Amino acid sequence: MNSISGIGFHWGIDIGGTTTILGYLKPDGFAVAATLKTDPAAGPDSLLRKISKTIGEADHAPCSAGVGIAGLVDRSEGLLVSSPNLPGWKHYPIRENLSTMLNCPVAINNDCNVFALQAIESSSIPDSGLWLMITLGTGIGGTIIQDGTILYGSGYAGEFGHMTVEASGRKCLCGSTGCWEQYAASEALCDYYRKYSGHSAYHDPIHIARQASMKQSAALSAFSEFGTWLAVGLVNLYQCFSPDGVFLGGGLMGACEFFLKHAESEFGRRCRYTWNVNVLPSSSDAGAEGAAIMGRNRTE
Ligand SMILES: [Zn+2]
Repeated sequence: MNSISGIGFHWGIDIGGTTTILGYLKPDGFAVAATLKTDPAAGPDSLLRKISKTIGEADHAPCSAGVGIAGLVDRSEGLLVSSPNLPGWKHYPIRENLSTMLNCPVAINNDCNVFALQAIESSSIPDSGLWLMITLGTGIGGTIIQDGTILYGSGYAGEFGHMTVEASGRKCLCGSTGCWEQYAASEALCDYYRKYSGHSAYHDPIHIARQASMKQSAALSAFSEFGTWLAVGLVNLYQCFSPDGVFLGGGLMGACEFFLKHAESEFGRRCRYTWNVNVLPSSSDAGAEGAAIMGRNRTE
């Protein structure tokens, strides 16, 4: 825990499947205060108690807190509806419980949307035009940004990962089949690698990227197939939204040199749009910072 002076900060919390990052806004940026282990099996109450203890020790009167969390979030009710990484947390009232513990207003949103808020605030995403942000990692997150504002539709807009790209395709945790994130996220990449290499053992994306950097053919083929499926979803999104462009982020972008060129050529085969796909700067605390910005914006 870094020592901070003063009270009344805007706090941001990014709850991931394995780690939870929390920090606060300073006049000149964002400071990470702590990284906690997320233990999904211990349940949400246990994690919220740890979060509130950590914040309470540093700041006796926080101004606000924002929470970003991977999953389907009901922003108006302040509930985590469901999360593949946190299976026992369904319909948990994060906003109400954390607000009681911290005695300050709390806002919640999904992890891609808070990441987008940080990208908008830091001008990585332009404040005019229609832009789509997509995160590639364990799943696919999405955000629609019009003139610097996130669009939510009736509440949940941007769940691009659950757009069907194969009617009778792979089963998805959301209950449907053939969702895009079953073809262009981490587990799919590992499946392609297992198929091309003939090795049935689990291989994580870092291992596959390492193999690709040594020009191993199975790894290069896996990334090529991954790029094809990435393009399939991007073409659908371009046809629906005609955006000014797309921003990509998330853990898999560390290996984008191996799949983005395949995605671009597949995209060119499938539509007439100009490929304007940009890579956002990677930062492990961007989600927590975006969550803090969200909390601050709600209270100012
Ligand atoms: Zn799905």
